[in-house]
Amino acid sequence: MTSRSSAQTLPPIHRVLLRLLAMLFALLVGMPSAWADDVVPAPRATARPNILFIFSDDHATAAISAYGSKLINTPHIDRLAREGTLFQNCFCTNSICGPSRAVILTGKHSHRNGFRDNHSTFDGGQATFPKLLQQAGYQTAIVGKWHLVSQPTGFDHWEVLPGQGAYYNPAMLSAPKTAEGPPTKRTVPGYVTDIVTDLALDWLDTQRDVSKPFMLMLQHKAPHREWEPGPAELDLFRGTTFPEPETLFDDYAGRAGGAAEQEMTIARHMLPKDLALMTPKNMNPEQKARWEAAYAAENEAFHKANLSGDALARWNYQRYIANYLRCVAGVDRTIGRVLEYLDKTGLAKNTIVVYSSDQGFYLGEHGWFDKRWMYEESLRMPMLVRWPGVTVPGTVDDHLVQNLDFAPTFLAAAGVAIPADMQGRSLVPLLRGDSPADWRQSVYYHYYEFPEPHRVPSHYGVRNRTHKLIWYDDRREWELFDLANDPRELHSIHADPAASEVFAHLRTELARVRAEAGDTTGVPLPTP
Ligand code: CA
Repeated sequence: MTSRSSAQTLPPIHRVLLRLLAMLFALLVGMPSAWADDVVPAPRATARPNILFIFSDDHATAAISAYGSKLINTPHIDRLAREGTLFQNCFCTNSICGPSRAVILTGKHSHRNGFRDNHSTFDGGQATFPKLLQQAGYQTAIVGKWHLVSQPTGFDHWEVLPGQGAYYNPAMLSAPKTAEGPPTKRTVPGYVTDIVTDLALDWLDTQRDVSKPFMLMLQHKAPHREWEPGPAELDLFRGTTFPEPETLFDDYAGRAGGAAEQEMTIARHMLPKDLALMTPKNMNPEQKARWEAAYAAENEAFHKANLSGDALARWNYQRYIANYLRCVAGVDRTIGRVLEYLDKTGLAKNTIVVYSSDQGFYLGEHGWFDKRWMYEESLRMPMLVRWPGVTVPGTVDDHLVQNLDFAPTFLAAAGVAIPADMQGRSLVPLLRGDSPADWRQSVYYHYYEFPEPHRVPSHYGVRNRTHKLIWYDDRREWELFDLANDPRELHSIHADPAASEVFAHLRTELARVRAEAGDTTGVPLPTP
């Protein structure tokens, strides 16, 4: 892969040559033929690009091979990395479903867009990037998971899952028949990852106004809890033993009190339905038979073994990871279908394709599933962008970027003015291979949802390239991690005299980014 940092050190003419070589290489290894007449990348896209935002729920970078996964191959997501830019350091501002989605739509932190936790209702009256694109002449659509309670606004077409939605034979909601009426509801037979893909492709193929550019949000339910793989993936990984993370049996020493008091352990907080020890509801007889045949032998062995303690935790981990990865494999497979459709129709040439997920997730690290914490596994989001003629194939970008930046990016890519009150920054310069001297050196984070579910304490903090400072505001506790020497974040050094200088620096930086974000919510920082 082309490393962005090494590309940055080259003089401009060498960077252009490097870019041309990369494009030529991409052509030789079978990029869409559309590239043939676009070998020299235009400094600015001439026609307004289409935007296809493919999004999933709870997909950790540790389950994407382009990010170095030790667990799974994701060839179709990897294709976007090969043909575009992979952001190595993309972070959410609040690691939970609804809040991340609200940040993406508005380009504003949770305290500004009003959606602080999953008990919130999204104010659809506020400015969002789909609305602004629609006003600028884009056809806009969203299909799949929405999870913001209120009805979608700013979309010419929407068909979304109610709430979390179902994996099998899901209900789907679409625009009401009358202005003030309830959404139109129907049940669609089949498996949700396939259904969302089919509905999105159907809109692209037969329903949209082809005289306009489009912005389509294709948003999967998978791989969200409870992990119910589709028929096509039920036999994957049978007999596979996955490597355990080093921190599966974390004792939470060396951290603030909340880490030991949470309720999101694989060992103690998973339910039979999380572990496929029960057959999911709302399956038809054929689906039910297929499901039960897939799990019967393993479940029988499990019940006979009567496991407890570490052995039970290990079994839970293996069952959880297998099902999680099966759900991911379904997402990856359908992305292959979507990319193939773009190639076949020639749309690939002028369509920005993005893959991301609302936050990261614990795949057994610290003994956990779920997200919420500012620790790396749930803070980091996958973010891959392929923009033919703009992104250099195989680029890895390590700037600190956030979901806050997505809305400004899509507006800038479409040539639409970015409202002054959006708090993120357009990634377009990074996508073009530039490295703005004034790019952010740290990111701000604020999580609110306590106590239920999972009892993760509220906290806010700052992360730069080397360290992370977290203030558990309700608990009045600090954590400070040296990310280079303690990448798994096991030993807080906030009280270590040797770290007093870095602690003071980060504390000032946290006050600064919090003021910059205009955040006065939560318990204020103590005076030094
Ligand atoms: Ca999520």
